[in-house]
Amino acid sequence: MKPFGYVRARSTEDAVHHFLSLPDARFLGGGTNLVDLMKLGVEAPGTLVDVSGLPLDTVSELPGGGLRIGATVRNSDLAAHPAVRRDLPVLAQALLSGASGQLRNMATTGGNLLQRTRCPYFQDTGQPCNKREPGSGCGALDGVNRDHAVLGHSAHCVATHPSDMAVALAALDAEIELVGPGGERKVPVADFHRLPGDRPQQDTVIRPGELITSVVVPASSGGMPSAYRKARDRSSYAFALVSVAAVLAVGDDGLIRHARLCFGGVAHKPWRAVTAEALLVGAPAGEDTYLRAAEAELAQAAPLSGNAFKVRLARRLAVDTLARLADRG
Ligand SMILES: Cc1cc2nc3c(=O)[nH]c(=O)nc-3n(C[C@H](O)[C@H](O)[C@H](O)COP(=O)(O)OP(=O)(O)OC[C@H]3O[C@@H](n4cnc5c(N)ncnc54)[C@H](O)[C@@H]3O)c2cc1C
Ligand code: SF4
Repeated sequence: MKPFGYVRARSTEDAVHHFLSLPDARFLGGGTNLVDLMKLGVEAPGTLVDVSGLPLDTVSELPGGGLRIGATVRNSDLAAHPAVRRDLPVLAQALLSGASGQLRNMATTGGNLLQRTRCPYFQDTGQPCNKREPGSGCGALDGVNRDHAVLGHSAHCVATHPSDMAVALAALDAEIELVGPGGERKVPVADFHRLPGDRPQQDTVIRPGELITSVVVPASSGGMPSAYRKARDRSSYAFALVSVAAVLAVGDDGLIRHARLCFGGVAHKPWRAVTAEALLVGAPAGEDTYLRAAEAELAQAAPLSGNAFKVRLARRLAVDTLARLADRG
């Protein structure tokens, strides 16, 4: 591993200042992704600015409902928080479906959102990869691409985004709060990660020196039936082949009054199924409606040589999850 400097940030301003003034600085959360990539030679920061000790480690209930989740809240603590378990099962289930207990004890909210793709060509410095080394090519495009994207990919990159938590947060209309050299700003989780286009090296819309300080989940979906379902090769400790985060509320008249659907494991970002959502709201709850909505969304899919199964899997997972939520009322 290349030698690197280390500094502990004492405040958010201090963190941003260090990032801008130290050579090739990177923020360090729990280190479960960044340090792994440093060991593989994929990442080689000059300095780590450790933000894990900043006082951003609380989950607070907001006056009008909703939650503010600090960027250094550990994944285990967030999944166990009483308000998350009570009002946001989709978020608790997504967190608990990710990684292992030990990893969740280290992983932070900010770091989880910014973890990098698990594409094996990205992690192997002997392979071509436009995300790791722009212009070098994409090994997965015509290689082993069973785990890769079926939606929104480009000829430059077909990688998927790996976070389970981000898929649930996108379905909950959550917003990311950032502070950086230009001051503070908010970005919806659904708009935070990018499709690859011709710049796959840029995973998100974050700007140099910006620190995630918190994530705000609005009150709107709180308490509604919601769920996270994840299809994977093993029953635990595996990334999603396809996952679904769904929130569904059905009125007494049998019509759907609120629907949020987001897919994981299928694109370079959590894939908010806006086409499906538009068909769901106002329609009668029932399998015909769910199937029509899922098929309309997935009509945009363009599977690669090794992953056409993901389209069928996404359709089945979405229909079954919506049906189960409707049964719960
Ligand atoms: C074996 C294994 C299995 C896993 N399985 C899953 C899984 O099934 N599902 C899943 O979702 N995840 C899984 N993970 C990934 C794990 O969830 C992530 O590694 C973890 O969430 C990253 O959080 P961290 O705090 O350790 O981030 P770090 O490694 O510290 O940082 C990751 C990135 O975020 C940046 N960063 C950190 N904090 C901030 C901040 N506040 N503001 C701005 N930038 C910041 C860092 O600079 C770095 O670029 C797995 C990991 C491993 C090793
Ligand atoms: S899919 Fe993306 S991350 Fe994987 S090799 Fe191609 S360019 Fe690299």
